[in-house]
Amino acid sequence: MEQDCVFCKIATGVFDTQFVYQDEKLVAFRDMNPQAPVHILIIPRRHIPQIRQLKGNDDKLVGRMILVAIKLAEQEQISESGYRLVFNCGENGGQEVDHIHLHLFGGRKMTWPPG
Ligand code: 5GP
Ligand code: ZN
Repeated sequence: MEQDCVFCKIATGVFDTQFVYQDEKLVAFRDMNPQAPVHILIIPRRHIPQIRQLKGNDDKLVGRMILVAIKLAEQEQISESGYRLVFNCGENGGQEVDHIHLHLFGGRKMTWPPG
């Protein structure tokens, strides 16, 4: 746990955030500033600042994040209509919280290219 990291605090229950999914490796919760009718963040409990810091043996962790997102999309009933999964990385990638997170967006038509 990184002392000043807001997502570490969420993962350890400091803010009493309601999880839409949790297991020993991951938690998922609704974004506080949703950009779509469904906007969920899937994060590892472990503090990893950016996806560029992932290592070869993190393949299971990242795979689990994606599989959980797919399951949550089904639960949220956006699976068939479609959705978008996004990892932002670094300044140009638009990353604001330095603890990796996978965005799940759905419930509306996404535009392309992204802004
Ligand atoms: P990024 O721009 O880093 O990819 O996305 C960070 C996301 O985290 C943003 O969409 C922002 O609204 C969300 N966020 C930041 N702080 C909190 C928080 O304390 N609680 C929740 N639920 N979402 C947060
Ligand atoms: Zn953290």
